Amino acid sequence: MKIIRSVKEMIEFEAQGEIAFVPTMGALHEGHLSLIRAAKKENDLVVVSIFVNPVQFSPGEDFSEYPRDEDCDTELLLKEDIDVLFMPQMKEMYPENSLVKVSLPSLTDCLCGTKRPKHFDGVALVLVKLFNIINPTKVYFGQKDYQQAMIVKKLIDDLNFQIGFKMLPTIRESNGLAMSSRNVYLTDDEQKQAGALYAMFSEARDLVRNGERNAIKLKEAMKSFLSKYEKLKLDYIDVRRADLKEVDVLEQGRYVLAASVYLGETRLIDNILVHV
Ligand code: AMP
Repeated sequence: MKIIRSVKEMIEFEAQGEIAFVPTMGALHEGHLSLIRAAKKENDLVVVSIFVNPVQFSPGEDFSEYPRDEDCDTELLLKEDIDVLFMPQMKEMYPENSLVKVSLPSLTDCLCGTKRPKHFDGVALVLVKLFNIINPTKVYFGQKDYQQAMIVKKLIDDLNFQIGFKMLPTIRESNGLAMSSRNVYLTDDEQKQAGALYAMFSEARDLVRNGERNAIKLKEAMKSFLSKYEKLKLDYIDVRRADLKEVDVLEQGRYVLAASVYLGETRLIDNILVHV
């Protein structure tokens, strides 16, 4: 595994084959590894990036506390036998004279974008940069961050990137809690309580299977389920079409049930897809 820290060196990397790319912010867990393993299976070369992207954090968010463990991540990636670990320096990614912004208005003004207004523009900007630097043939993203995955798909389409896109399922703890680098912020008791989020989605999925088609009623049922867990404080709950458009009545198609909750100071997000 080659470790590259310079943007210039990454651009000049002479790939002996097609590159699959898995962007991450590090503090790697089984969710990340599932993407890396799929990328490894399906492609000649795998590049993984670790970069905690400052422009996707708002003031007051956890940029400085975000978990970082370069040694542990490097060791994990060595075991996965990837080809390149790209860890760019902040100054090189965002020189003082950086000017360009990327925005995708209607995809970013709902769900997580409502509470984190600049977040997805920051995600989009860093991904455009990384795609240009790494020049991948295919990119891998997790359903865990469903809105982000939809934004990446749109970036690729609208900006004519010649890149294949793959979204893979969310990897969960045994109690249903979606794995996340931020789970280290949770106490043992909070980790247990956090399983309620997935239980809530599972109940909603059963309601859909049993014929519920009214989005408002589904949202109410999910809120009512969550209200039994006093440590979980609701941020948002939504039911949308899989393309993130609003919906009142679920007709034939794919839908995403998405939520964000606070457990103490920690904000968790999760979602499931349902088919009608
Ligand atoms: P992050 O390091 O949080 O920016 O995540 C990097 C990539 O890993 C993104 O595509 C995430 O959606 C994906 N990811 C994070 N958690 C999970 C999980 N539990 N299951 C599957 N993919 C995940």
